Amino acid sequence: MAQTIQGIRGMNDVLPQESPRWQYFEQVCRDWLAAYGYQNIRMPIVESTHLFVRGVGEHTDIVEKEMYAFEDSLNGEKLTLRPEGTAGCVRACIEHGLLYNQTQRLWYIGPMFRHERPQKGRLRQFNQLGVEAFGFATPDLDAELIIMLADLWQRLGLTGLTLELNSLGNADERAAHRAELIKYLEGFVNVLDEDGKRRLYTNPLRVLDTKNPALQEMANLAPKLEDYLGEESKAHFAGVKALLDDAGIAYRLNPRLVRGLDYYNRTVFEWVTTELGAQGTVAAGGRYDALVEQLGGKPCPAVGFAMGIERLMLLLEAQQVATPAQSPDVYVISQGEAAARAAFTAARQLRANGLNVIYHAGGGSFKSQFKKADQSGAALAVIVGEGELAAGTVNIKVLTGAQQGEQHTVAQDQMVNTIRSLK
Ligand code: ATP
Ligand code: MG
Repeated sequence: MAQTIQGIRGMNDVLPQESPRWQYFEQVCRDWLAAYGYQNIRMPIVESTHLFVRGVGEHTDIVEKEMYAFEDSLNGEKLTLRPEGTAGCVRACIEHGLLYNQTQRLWYIGPMFRHERPQKGRLRQFNQLGVEAFGFATPDLDAELIIMLADLWQRLGLTGLTLELNSLGNADERAAHRAELIKYLEGFVNVLDEDGKRRLYTNPLRVLDTKNPALQEMANLAPKLEDYLGEESKAHFAGVKALLDDAGIAYRLNPRLVRGLDYYNRTVFEWVTTELGAQGTVAAGGRYDALVEQLGGKPCPAVGFAMGIERLMLLLEAQQVATPAQSPDVYVISQGEAAARAAFTAARQLRANGLNVIYHAGGGSFKSQFKKADQSGAALAVIVGEGELAAGTVNIKVLTGAQQGEQHTVAQDQMVNTIRSLK
């Protein structure tokens, strides 16, 4: 026997038994996104490496150590499997002139790639659903996105998710705060861990994001960005909070919420759960008003979020949210070569009438075929034996529900009507 080949660590298969939950999620999301007027955009999985270095930021975890970057051996191009969707979405919008004197409300779904240590809720290939809104500078869009997610949790039947909120202000405000923060952190250089030392001058806000218990007091007492916000940034943040209050959405102001990507300004937020251990953030986003210009477009305000679908799947499972079964309407059974041909034709006729039908292939005893029919979850079985074939009839058996076990023998041309009345 040939040696088997394994999948790549951290890159999972979604098997048929798990896919109903994914399809339930996708179905709910499609209706939800339509309800808010968001349009679908589909970008390639591979982009120029440069896009992410410039878009996500040179001194982020993603660019420093998580990217699947490679050189195309056929033409030497420097390429990267996308670690997130925003940069590619902005690239596509600029390239196709979608931001020229117009607003856009967009969404996408698909795999992202980050070379992280695989664990529960953390994979190397994972899926995100991302939403990006372009051309809106006002706080109503920040609030719309946050409230949309609260609505989604409700539509999905999820509970217990909480909202963390912060404002990062504008670039000047961050620069003033940063200078003070670096001065402050320099006093702790001896206690900072490797990551902390490395980030002190490149990304000092991230130093405050430390999970190290010994550094909590240092982080808590550090200069707060909040105290550096100007009037406009404060007013914008107040506008977001007012709309959240109107919608009855509770939030926790978290001055240490900074997000791992460089492009954010003003509003940042995370929807988190305590039910998934350390990987508790299921959706995260914020405003990124400078990114479009940074990637070569005309200045264009923007706000967006991404949610991790695997983490949502774990949460749906943990909260035992029932997902609709995907059982066929009819399972078609037969015995004998001539009857099998008639059954094959009957299955086609049922499908042409809008029914979901499994045709039993491969023969076998009636007993084993009925077992398969039951396993399929079909509501009805259509049975064509030699007797039925000779009489020009089919036998219809109810497999589930209150009428379970009931049987009807009807003329061939009454099959569809009878099934409709039993369904
Ligand atoms: P974390 O702090 O958990 O590493 P992040 O800040 O890197 O998250 P984002 O880049 O904001 O995450 O991505 C948005 C969402 O995508 C996250 O909140 C999470 O739900 C999901 N996500 C991010 N990285 C992974 C991963 N490696 N595996 C599974 N889901 C992920
Ligand atoms: Mg991360």
